[in-house]
Amino acid sequence: MAQCALCSSQHIRKLFTKDGLNIVKCQECGFCFVFPQENPANIADRYNSSEYFNTKFVQKFGYGDYESVRPLNDIWFNKILKKINKLANPPGKILDIGCALGHFLIIAKQMGWSPVGLERSDYAFQYCRDHYEFPVYQGTMEDNLIPDNEKYRIITLFDVLEHVLDIQKAMETIQRLTEPSGLLIINTPNEGGISRKLMRRYWFHFKPYEHTYYFSADTLTRLLDNYGFEVIKMERCYKIVNIDAMFNRIFHYNSILPRILHKISGKSRWKYRPFPFPTGEITVYARKI
Ligand SMILES: [Zn+2]
Repeated sequence: MAQCALCSSQHIRKLFTKDGLNIVKCQECGFCFVFPQENPANIADRYNSSEYFNTKFVQKFGYGDYESVRPLNDIWFNKILKKINKLANPPGKILDIGCALGHFLIIAKQMGWSPVGLERSDYAFQYCRDHYEFPVYQGTMEDNLIPDNEKYRIITLFDVLEHVLDIQKAMETIQRLTEPSGLLIINTPNEGGISRKLMRRYWFHFKPYEHTYYFSADTLTRLLDNYGFEVIKMERCYKIVNIDAMFNRIFHYNSILPRILHKISGKSRWKYRPFPFPTGEITVYARKI
């Protein structure tokens, strides 16, 4: 029987089915999630493949070409770190959960933080181990593999919280690893946002193969409160994109159109010019009480 991980209510209603999985909503607190979840073994296989980070076009699953969008992500990571540095000063330890290829941690290190990563994917973990000297653990938050005496001033989760399979275990780990008064920064799709309201069940963040939980400002605040975090700031997220990357994203809906658009536009310079764009996500800055 479905039970809400936020308020324990069993008053759960199915919204719709996508890719063979049900997306449901708690009628008490509004928390939206996939139920029942897919077999965890299938999920692990997909994250472990290099294709998750390297497919040219984004289909039902994965990041697209992660290296090619790195310069765009780096601009965004810089902005986030400047905001973090207004709330807490380096030196100190920063843990990036779901660190992927470690790009955020490289910039954090340049700004004076001591970086540590946690990453579940075999491919991304090997990449980090081969390229960096800072520590990276392989696993998920639910695996609980970081020792108790390790505490972090800053913990970040970018596009990660929606992927976890057990939100309660994940939050217990985060709570345990955060220093007193430490900061938690989370970026996740906003289920209460405008793009979700306009696109309804066709919202591009409804990807039940990889997104298990869908937060709104309200449910995210409630989650953080449940685990002893106070929200300092919550804002609409503007990622940095360019037209080239946006064309590739269209592949999620249509497999021919991006190829036509690339062909027509060729290698025009305007395709690669970065600009901020609202991606239907929220970024929250919270402090451990
Ligand atoms: Zn609930």
